[in-house]
Amino acid sequence: MSDALSSFPRLPLAHLPTPLELLANLTADNHGAEIWVKRDDCTGLGFGGNKTRKLEFLLGEAQASGADTVITVGGVQSNHARQTAAAAARIGMRCELVLPRVVPLAGDDYDENGNVLLDRLFGAHVFVVADEAAAVREIQARLTAAEERGSKAVVHPPGGSTATGALGYVNAALELCDQLAQAQNAPHFERIYVASSTGGTLAGLLCGFQLAGIDVSVAGVSVAGPAETLRKDVGRLVSDVQALLGLPPLPANRIMIVDGYLGAAYGIPSPAALDAVGRCARLEGLLLDPVYTGKAMAALLDWAADPGPGGGSGAGPVLFWHTGGAPALFAYRQEFSD
Ligand SMILES: *Cc1c(COP(=O)(O)O)cnc(C)c1O
Repeated sequence: MSDALSSFPRLPLAHLPTPLELLANLTADNHGAEIWVKRDDCTGLGFGGNKTRKLEFLLGEAQASGADTVITVGGVQSNHARQTAAAAARIGMRCELVLPRVVPLAGDDYDENGNVLLDRLFGAHVFVVADEAAAVREIQARLTAAEERGSKAVVHPPGGSTATGALGYVNAALELCDQLAQAQNAPHFERIYVASSTGGTLAGLLCGFQLAGIDVSVAGVSVAGPAETLRKDVGRLVSDVQALLGLPPLPANRIMIVDGYLGAAYGIPSPAALDAVGRCARLEGLLLDPVYTGKAMAALLDWAADPGPGGGSGAGPVLFWHTGGAPALFAYRQEFSD
């Protein structure tokens, strides 16, 4: 199966396979389905997270094309930007981060701590701009500057969500299948939950399970905007990945988007997300974040406690695909100080 990926250039950046663990205390506290976690917060490089798997393929492709500079874009506290900065440092590429103020937060913690502190520590060139239109202009200016100094630059979109980036999550799905095949008494997951914003992680997982011939529902919890936007983005990425891998189309109803956990907006913690962050920390010593994984875990906990029609008591086990993000905790210090 993984032969399907062997023709794509790939850099070994992540610590793989990531652990698969039972969250026994959280399960007991939640009175419902057994809860497991796939620890992609432990991909290793620069505090880890889901973007590192995508960067193995994205930067593999960039390096193969002779690029010496990577430019990418994300919110001020972007985990994708931070993981790109760390990966670029590792492989000796110049990294330029264009960070529009898409989240209405500012101040010392938000602007300088957490991921931003790490971006600078990794030696990235950071350009904070007012909004998305300004980001487009800044990227153009960066490309012009690269050309003037004789550099070859590549631009990666927010979240690294191209078909190439999503291959990292095709590989991740195959990795989970291997782990389950090797485990004794392996759980048979009824559902997988993952935080979704640009959709590359969800699209890659769906195509990976398709490739493996495994029928499992993967629920993408929308944390960045309207569910319908995410559904379209995932649908487009799924088709692009299928084209790359020569896979047939999936029925459109395979794309499961969970709505209702976004809260006020992307980057604004919801009470349910803060509660999930606190419960995982106190019960499991497990760090989530207030922007992505806290919201996704809130959705999982509700479902695991009450799966509703078709689920019923005895539903599960359920897998939380941890995508990282904990470095942003330090940017949201005030949410946690009582
Ligand atoms: C980027 C990110 C996601 C969302 O991944 P997409 O592929 O953009 O949908 C989820 N969790 C964390 C912590 C992230 O940084």
